Amino acid sequence: MSPALVSSAGEPVSSNGKAGPRPTSILHRTPWIPPIATRAEGSYIELESGQRLFDAIGGAAVACIGMGHPVVTKALKEQIDRVSYVYNMQLSNQPAEELATLLTESSNGAFELCGFASGGSEAMEGVIKLARQYFHETGQLQRTNFIARQLSFHGNTVATLSLAYHPTRRTPYAAILDSDHFHHVSPAYAKRFQRPEESEEDYVERLRAELEAKFIELGPDTVIGFVAETVVGATTGVGPAPKGYFKAMKSVCEKYGALFILDEVMSGMGRMGTMHAWESFGDGVAPDLQAVAKGLGGGYASIGAVLMSKRIVAGLRDASGLWKHGHTYQANPLACAASLAVQKVIRDENLLENCRIQGAYLEKLLKARLQGPNSLSAPFTFDIRGGGGFWGIEFDFDGPEAATLDFKGQQFAMLVQAHALEHGLVIMGMTGGANLQGTKGDVILLAPAYNVTAQEVEMIAEMFGDSVDAVLKAHQV
Ligand SMILES: *Cc1c(COP(=O)(O)O)cnc(C)c1O
Repeated sequence: MSPALVSSAGEPVSSNGKAGPRPTSILHRTPWIPPIATRAEGSYIELESGQRLFDAIGGAAVACIGMGHPVVTKALKEQIDRVSYVYNMQLSNQPAEELATLLTESSNGAFELCGFASGGSEAMEGVIKLARQYFHETGQLQRTNFIARQLSFHGNTVATLSLAYHPTRRTPYAAILDSDHFHHVSPAYAKRFQRPEESEEDYVERLRAELEAKFIELGPDTVIGFVAETVVGATTGVGPAPKGYFKAMKSVCEKYGALFILDEVMSGMGRMGTMHAWESFGDGVAPDLQAVAKGLGGGYASIGAVLMSKRIVAGLRDASGLWKHGHTYQANPLACAASLAVQKVIRDENLLENCRIQGAYLEKLLKARLQGPNSLSAPFTFDIRGGGGFWGIEFDFDGPEAATLDFKGQQFAMLVQAHALEHGLVIMGMTGGANLQGTKGDVILLAPAYNVTAQEVEMIAEMFGDSVDAVLKAHQV
């Protein structure tokens, strides 16, 4: 049987209740054929089989207000009756204008203008090109280099894969990625890479010095910018940087006239409990350019955005005065109407406060359940980290207690993800983020909707804890 015809647990898929895999004409992204979701309300998803799931990760940290919110549904229905599509080389549209104003006006002056894309990778492509356009138009044609970080993720297009460094995602394409213009420095991942003799300050200074050395190696006036995820998502699994890190990295950019660029596709738009992750997890340091996407549309539409600081806007205003970049579905009226409604719901229902409160409660419950004195998983729970509505639980099997376990070549995080899904909880397993080779690391990501309730948080902690315990018990030798 081809691997595409078995479930994550190695069994034939029977999402339609019949034995054996269901037929499909989609080349799926998973080694198994995923079940079909037929209905969803809030964070509950119903499958074709009738099984009900609770989504504790919002898909991929996307569905930030749950599904079927009446305010968003109404906005989408009204917009489809008004204007469903215009091409933005000819016409603009009202929801796009209003959304852009909301995004810039809620940034405390950090951003002056905004441009739209249809997702995170497109937004990051837009950032890469706009950063180059800025120097092209301000007469610094020699600036052609980007510096990003190892163990990062910026998207799945060729340029964003080149920019980022996610060992396994780039492997098949490494030979065609651009290594001339995209360079990498160390991740900011204290729990794994801070040396025992180093203080947090020392560690930050080492990373700052490494970035400066990379600038000098490339030629300081050839660097376009330094790019980082404010809180690392899909590689190390919810990795906030040490205190002072972003301030230090921005100081290097400023010293040499380069741009300081943040990718908040996953961590932004409220996910960390603040509108922008840099407000709470980035030393309050605003970037010159920023990409957002996942929580921007909350799953109701494919949308991303590029947020531009005064510096960028001033540079362009004195030259072409326009964004030399576009896509057919950019600023799509339906996507913008959906996103605008999502953002109004977050604001009007005061959801960021709820996200912070319930996030802190989730952290407390997870720590008690996974690291408590009688907890089966305590010896293997390496780290529980995050903030707001974004939490990573990292496991480690380097200790002597692991001698009694045998996962038979399977990855623990993926076993836990599969077990949880089978028992009604959607979570995200992530592997390979614990070393630079991408060969070690088991993290589970949790990203409940910002309107999650205390009872739902209790359910998440309990169901997740049960899955961790069940997988550990099933693999004891
Ligand atoms: C998901 C993600 C992307 C890519 O977004 P897509 O919408 O999947 O194209 C880029 N950067 C980060 C940090 C992400 O988490």
